Amino acid sequence: MMCCRMKPLDFDFRRGIQAFCLLLTVLCSSGAMAAETSGRLDIYFIDVEGGAATLIVTPAGESVLIDSGYPDFGGRDRDRILHTVRDVAGLKQIDHAVVSHWHLDHYGNHAALSTEIPIKNFWDRGIPDALQEDPKFVDRVALYRAASQNGSKTLAAGDKLPLKQAGRTPLEVEVLTASREVIPSRGEANPHAKDQTAKPEDTSDNAASITLLLKFGSFRFLCCGDLTWNIQSKLVTPRNSVGKVDLFMVTHHGLPTSNNPALVLAIDPVVAVMCNGPTKGGHPETIATLRKVKSLEHLYQLHRNVKLDAAGQTPAEFIANTGETEGCEGVMVKASVSQDGGSYTLQIGKEGRPRIYETRKH
Ligand SMILES: [Zn+2]
Repeated sequence: MMCCRMKPLDFDFRRGIQAFCLLLTVLCSSGAMAAETSGRLDIYFIDVEGGAATLIVTPAGESVLIDSGYPDFGGRDRDRILHTVRDVAGLKQIDHAVVSHWHLDHYGNHAALSTEIPIKNFWDRGIPDALQEDPKFVDRVALYRAASQNGSKTLAAGDKLPLKQAGRTPLEVEVLTASREVIPSRGEANPHAKDQTAKPEDTSDNAASITLLLKFGSFRFLCCGDLTWNIQSKLVTPRNSVGKVDLFMVTHHGLPTSNNPALVLAIDPVVAVMCNGPTKGGHPETIATLRKVKSLEHLYQLHRNVKLDAAGQTPAEFIANTGETEGCEGVMVKASVSQDGGSYTLQIGKEGRPRIYETRKH
């Protein structure tokens, strides 16, 4: 301090300003860090009117976007995703964008998003030369190829996403199925395997969906894309390779060609989120299966199924959007897992009442 007083005033003043700026920079960056590394793991179920778009933000501040809704409709789904990524989650880029399978309600906006925000890594199940159910596939996937600069990486059953760890709670996202391949059977015998029935083979790309199992400490979240009945069966018989989960994204928008009871009852979720639209998914058969799940406390629906009466679906307080697609605000459902993975909160939109659930013990 003594020597400082010896120096000319303007020099001291300049140093003072520099020190102040440095302090401000440190404070700002630590503030930004705090926002990114609150230690929680967030999962946003973005409403894309019966498609799928699920954003995961890890404690390290990394983001994983699984699927991207429908194209067209004036960029409706693209804008809802961008709003969630930028304005709600406060992100400047998408680190990992995954395509669960090659249907337009799942990869509809990967290309459009990439012109608005940097996407660092593209992941998919491999790009087929053609798709029997989509004669325009080659042209459509060309946009995706261009967006990823032909650099998308293929995920196979057993792979893990290369995610950064932060804090002491281990994080892992494992691929359980991809391109009709399933990880080797593991875990405990599935008591529901004996009630198993088969359906005719599904030759569509739904059966090729990527299934992701996220583990954060004890917390488990399962997302199967649109994986259909027989491959779901393969995943949980004779052993339940998934194990029990806390949070389940109801498969295929709640359609009964997926949501095989052998899987749904075996994974025994405590909370389920269904990404249905007003007239797509949310099928009574799937609702009936979910109602048989022993541990299920609450089912959240992104939409009211406008074709079903109130008794045939989840109670109104667990429905994010009640009207038709026209004029829909696209309210999301958010799950947020605590720093240690020991509990998690579900909330509808920004104003919804948060409900806290204990993570199950494994
Ligand atoms: Zn779908």
